[in-house]
Amino acid sequence: AEQMLINSEKLSIAGQLAAGIAHEIRNPITAIKGFIQLMKSGVSEKKLYYEIMSSEIERIEMILSELLILAKPQLIHSDRKDIRNILSQVTTLLESQAILSNVEIITECEPDLPPILCDQNQLKQVCINFIKNGIEAMSLGGTLLIQVKTQNENSLILRFIDQGCGIPEDIITKLGQPFYTTKEKGTGLGFMVSKKIIESHNGTINVFSKDKEGTTVEVYLPTFN
Ligand code: ADP
Ligand code: MG
Repeated sequence: AEQMLINSEKLSIAGQLAAGIAHEIRNPITAIKGFIQLMKSGVSEKKLYYEIMSSEIERIEMILSELLILAKPQLIHSDRKDIRNILSQVTTLLESQAILSNVEIITECEPDLPPILCDQNQLKQVCINFIKNGIEAMSLGGTLLIQVKTQNENSLILRFIDQGCGIPEDIITKLGQPFYTTKEKGTGLGFMVSKKIIESHNGTINVFSKDKEGTTVEVYLPTFN
């Protein structure tokens, strides 16, 4: 009976996700269809319509690429990795976005950090998601502080601390749910995907936030000793 319960739980999550995907993808498709019809009728605004259509297609691509991470088998390439290398690669990747948003990314790492056992690409995805969320929360710019410390013999703490808009308390509980977004171009999948990846690495996530002051996303990960 327990097994059945677990299966039916999985099914309902899958069903929930399927409904969300259908909804999220139908919207841009309806828009694209509408513009094609307008263009067929011979209107002159073609350039604008092409732009909107391609941005809607981009949106579908973004949703699908985040969903594909979920569909991948978990922990395919588990290796001993230095979290500092992962962070430096990811911050380099996001440097131009940070500069454009007036955000300075500062990384503080304790010396002699033990390695973690992880799928590097998945962990990079997690860091990218949290750093991007931090940058996007700071519409007027600011500092995004990334801290790494050992917590004890068996785990480390990775914190992403921003000075952004903050998350209202009742919303923090919605963060693991698919398609919750407050952004015009958001997918509402980044947090859920990150949480799944961290959990598949036997880690946990905590979120602390203060309205208009900022957010701290705290990730605990087991270390390899
Ligand atoms: P997306 O970034 O596509 O909106 P996410 O799953 O990454 O999707 O985040 C969901 C929502 O959680 C965001 O739209 C935003 O409202 C909120 N959020 C997440 N991280 C932060 C943060 N650091 N500061 C403020 N709000 C955040
Ligand atoms: Mg995001």
